[in-house]
Amino acid sequence: MEHQLADGAEYDVIIAGASFAGLAVAAPLRGKRVLLLDRKPVGTRPTSACGTTLQALQALGLEEAVQQIHQEVTLHTPYRSVTYPASHTQCVLDYALLCRLLQERGDAEFLQTPALGLEQGGVRTSQGIYRGRFLVDASGWRATLASSLRPGLVRADHLSVGIETVIPHRQEGLHFWLGISEKRAIDIGWVFPAGDVSHVGVARYARNRPLRGTLDRFLAERGLECGEVYGGAIPAALRPATIGDLFLVGDAAGHCLPTTGEGIRAALFFGTHLGQLLNDTLEGRMTPAAARALYREMVEQRRRAYGWLRGLQGLVTRTPLPLLGEGLHLAELTALYKPVFRRYYGGLAVGTAPATLHTRP
Ligand SMILES: Cc1cc2nc3c(=O)[nH]c(=O)nc-3n(C[C@H](O)[C@H](O)[C@H](O)COP(=O)(O)OP(=O)(O)OC[C@H]3O[C@@H](n4cnc5c(N)ncnc54)[C@H](O)[C@@H]3O)c2cc1C
Repeated sequence: MEHQLADGAEYDVIIAGASFAGLAVAAPLRGKRVLLLDRKPVGTRPTSACGTTLQALQALGLEEAVQQIHQEVTLHTPYRSVTYPASHTQCVLDYALLCRLLQERGDAEFLQTPALGLEQGGVRTSQGIYRGRFLVDASGWRATLASSLRPGLVRADHLSVGIETVIPHRQEGLHFWLGISEKRAIDIGWVFPAGDVSHVGVARYARNRPLRGTLDRFLAERGLECGEVYGGAIPAALRPATIGDLFLVGDAAGHCLPTTGEGIRAALFFGTHLGQLLNDTLEGRMTPAAARALYREMVEQRRRAYGWLRGLQGLVTRTPLPLLGEGLHLAELTALYKPVFRRYYGGLAVGTAPATLHTRP
């Protein structure tokens, strides 16, 4: 049966950004008129080291995209290295394959064009204005649509930055280095093995200096050569879940977790739930106002946890490295990391919805 659209709307849902968050929103919307916009082809030029939990992918039936599984996470400081058995099995995923699998879940129309902003109740592109009943900003840290409604939304002091390269290198476990260029953990480095290759990158908990020199030094110290470099900013503070009628999701909403810079799980979690809410609304099981309220509530329930992680990020960057090393060691000796990890991973467990989600009208 032809789906009925609201007056003047060409689409049920328009989503700007077709990466983790945007594709997760579109997946539950099969059968609806959905337009996905992205400035680049789907699954190309990732901005991510692609490490996440195996559980997050299994919950969505996406484990086919796993490239390598890791049971241990090692944190290195210049003074100490501490290895934690991962409470949640970690993995590194194939970005192109994950995007293809997610895209195939839905049946959205894809248009390769940059979204330029919101105008006359629609999304402005170089090819004209597209109107939809629901508009979703999943355009990453720049939050292009939301920023056109609220200039100043993207705060430079709420951003970290990261770059990386994927090169031939085999190893086991996920490895982080804290304090790679200063006497505090403001810069971090990582090696995330993914089969025959590894993601090797560096990030800075601030945006005040280019990172390319840091990456080159980090690679040279390990006898590794640089390949193609990519990356971007990483939001480190939660933004509003909605602005007016617009939904924000993934990095556009600041869903990436402070301290760890882990944003894939969050983008998949909030994206999937938002897609389900919009689907319920389009099928008449919920009003648009209730969908907006529930989505905001889902984010608000976690605002305190985001605040804690943001506080932890500040603490980590200020703590002298020898003390940080001892703290990590103590956490390992007393197994304190176990309840911390359980809480950390439990808060955004993909596949679990807040109880209210399916019970409200
Ligand atoms: C170097 C680096 C390494 C990282 N490593 C990890 C990691 O290992 N694990 C982890 O969990 N997180 C990691 N993160 C964070 C993670 O990558 C992000 O949180 C995640 O990509 C967010 O997904 P998203 O879909 O919200 O945004 P993005 O993945 O950034 O996707 C945004 C999409 O919107 C498109 N777009 C942007 N502007 C427009 C526009 N105007 N019009 C149309 N389309 C537009 C982009 O082309 C892109 O496809 C890393 C980040 C960086 C920078």
